[in-house]
Amino acid sequence: MANFINVILPIPLERSFTYSITEEEATLLQPGMRVAVPFGKSKIYTGIVHGVHQNAPEAYEAKEIHQLLDDYPIINPIQLKHWEWIASYYMCTLGEVVRSALPSAFLLESETLVLRNTEYEVDENELLDDEFLVFEALQHQSILKVQEVSAIIERKNVLPILQRLLEKKIIVLKEEVYEQYRPKLVRYVKLGSEYGADDKLEELLKSLTRAPKQSQVVLTLFQLQGRSQKPIKVSELEKASNTSKAVIKSLVDKGILEEYFIKTDRINYDGSSDESETKDLNEYQKSALIDIKAAFKEKKVTLLKGVTSSGKTEVYVKLIEECLEKGLQALYLLPEIALTTQLISRLQEYFGEKIAVYHSKYNVQERVEVWQNVLQVKQKAQLVIGARSAMYLPFGKLGLVIVDEEHESSFKQFDPAPRYHARDAAIVLGNLHNANVLLGSATPSVETYHNAKTGKYGYTEITKRYGNVLMPEIELVDIKEATRKKRMKGHFSERLLLEMQETLIEGNQIILFQNRRGFAPLLECLTCGHTPQCPNCDVSLTYHQFKNQLRCHYCGYHTALPESCFACGSPDLDTKGFGTEQIEKEVIGLFPDAKVGRMDLDTTRGKHGYEKIITAFEQQELDILVGTQMLTKGLDFRNVNLVGVMNADSLLNFPDYRAHERTYQLLTQVSGRAGRTKKRGKVIIQTYNPYHQILKQVTTSDYEGMYREQLYEREQFKYPPVNRIIKVTFKHKNYNVLNEAADWFAGALRSNFGGTVLGPEYPPVARIRNQYLKHIVVKVQKVQSLAQTKANIRRIEKSFKAVAMYRSVRVIYNVDHI
Ligand code: ADP
Ligand code: ZN
Ligand code: ZN
Repeated sequence: MANFINVILPIPLERSFTYSITEEEATLLQPGMRVAVPFGKSKIYTGIVHGVHQNAPEAYEAKEIHQLLDDYPIINPIQLKHWEWIASYYMCTLGEVVRSALPSAFLLESETLVLRNTEYEVDENELLDDEFLVFEALQHQSILKVQEVSAIIERKNVLPILQRLLEKKIIVLKEEVYEQYRPKLVRYVKLGSEYGADDKLEELLKSLTRAPKQSQVVLTLFQLQGRSQKPIKVSELEKASNTSKAVIKSLVDKGILEEYFIKTDRINYDGSSDESETKDLNEYQKSALIDIKAAFKEKKVTLLKGVTSSGKTEVYVKLIEECLEKGLQALYLLPEIALTTQLISRLQEYFGEKIAVYHSKYNVQERVEVWQNVLQVKQKAQLVIGARSAMYLPFGKLGLVIVDEEHESSFKQFDPAPRYHARDAAIVLGNLHNANVLLGSATPSVETYHNAKTGKYGYTEITKRYGNVLMPEIELVDIKEATRKKRMKGHFSERLLLEMQETLIEGNQIILFQNRRGFAPLLECLTCGHTPQCPNCDVSLTYHQFKNQLRCHYCGYHTALPESCFACGSPDLDTKGFGTEQIEKEVIGLFPDAKVGRMDLDTTRGKHGYEKIITAFEQQELDILVGTQMLTKGLDFRNVNLVGVMNADSLLNFPDYRAHERTYQLLTQVSGRAGRTKKRGKVIIQTYNPYHQILKQVTTSDYEGMYREQLYEREQFKYPPVNRIIKVTFKHKNYNVLNEAADWFAGALRSNFGGTVLGPEYPPVARIRNQYLKHIVVKVQKVQSLAQTKANIRRIEKSFKAVAMYRSVRVIYNVDHI
């Protein structure tokens, strides 16, 4: 009897493909193993076995597979089920899910590019003959396509060889040339702990009378410490005391001074210190933990709403601890891992080597290693921390899922498919494993809070910051008045400047928040009013002072700053609007002695951009940090006492039904960076609308009020959580074809669902990379079957694609678009 397998190919195909296999292969192959298979005329892909059976395909002759790539499944049955759910719920193909879920090293294909790994000393004797041929070819040619490798070794099946070379660290894949960031170690000094008390210090100075240089150093250190609370660098002390390193060193040797480093490497745990005990919880944390466990008994997803700095992390830690003790795996999802290296080091203190970090910016080898460790339920990866893609890992014994900052919109993948929400997909994963799921946030999303309120989720809260630290005091400053009376200095009100001065004098740090949206600086001609546009997209180019360029934020197009207007030739050009760059420049002018840093997409573009800036700020090498949205994400800076929001209005005015919810969340989160230690923090929010309801709710921490109003509005306008929405996007290079196609589709939808179809409409940027865009929004009432609706949409799509003119129009679904 003939044997077959269904194979999921990592490309957007409607269904899986059937290949024929031998009797022997049939006994070896299981779902979740990889095979190399031919596809099309000449392509080779890595595919995933979905099922083994005896049914020959009817429509085509099944081809033979090239090769088995695994001895055991690298994907388990629960994963396959989960991925099927993702494909069906988010309206994409299983192949697209596989492509997004597996590290690229698992998916070698004929198009993959390979390079030599220059980091690695190769012992040529270690290599098999075929491996050596590839290695040698890479000495002459720096990049090879898989097809070229195939020609070199005169064999069709090269994927297994490349797999071996990858494992031996001899090659790397093109997209992952990897470098590691090591922050430079800065040495600091302080007085030895013995000499803290005043009388001890006097004694010390007396004992040093015969060593004037040394006593000079001690006195200088004392003065520097008095002037500011900042840590003092060895180099700084050397300069201020006018002595040498040797003198300082002799004091360190005597134990009079102590040397220390503030921060060492963040991600890489060196395993040097023992795992420390987890912290005892305070009464609020304890009671939250009891609530959570009670809810878990009923197998409920649970929401922990705790104000910023209430110590949610320590509550998670207790749950993780219990989970690991039972020998189960735990998954900790974060919105953006680059910003949470702080959290990772904190967890490493407790769980040491049991932690694995999983992130798409990590190199292939590391990701494959984590995958294997999770698959084999190794101790080394019992707790996995990661951004959304970590929920794809092959958990076998998952006991706990934590979704931290669950309100963050970056949990939703926007492009490419699958356009999944990692929080929601993680809840489904938790269900499949019968695991507990905890969602945490200071400002839960309206959906999640609604689910908690209606009893679908369990709920608990912490309303006090840890250690009786007060919530920051939030003050709204009316800049409309100030602008009218010409009392603004650039974009700074007098109130904000005064607070900044005081904060700097006290030696504390400042965060200035500038919304990234709506304030991109533009170039405008003062003569004719022309603003340069991107040639590929319907959007104005933004002005980047740093590189003296005009850039498109959508397609990356850039051009040097023109000397005269493109339209009329006038040289009178002006920059309009303001961004973080402008704020930074103004701050430097206003506070010439302060050290100012900036954190936005531009300054953090490099691989370790974030870490460098966060480290510098943490080490107090910067006094003022100007930044965008990135600043809001769970950072814990000990010394920030003032947060300034430059302008709250652009957030409020954003044309989206979530604008108000987002504004509340963003302003509350950014405020939460202030005053996380003893002294009460201060937040200044500058706005043209100090009487706006949302801003008042932010100043009084009135989450309930915000929620009630938002829910009411969403009920009125049929938005989530009351309804579900599916956004359908059409893309085509021809404007007329696009319009007709979108109208056709909308018409078909309308005759199916009646009034719950909006559009088609152009998005704010209606052309990107020379493709025109149009959206339709379908609103589905909760009482309607979502599955039925999707099936209807699919049917319409079929008839749509049958129209010759529409065949080349791309149709993109975004379920639960946010
Ligand atoms: P959140 O995540 O709620 O914003 P964190 O978990 O970051 O708050 O806690 C804020 C600060 O309080 C952290 O520096 C943390 O170490 C400290 N903290 C929280 N709980 C405890 C505890 N039980 N014992 C000691 N320190 C704690
Ligand atoms: Zn002009
Ligand atoms: Zn563009």
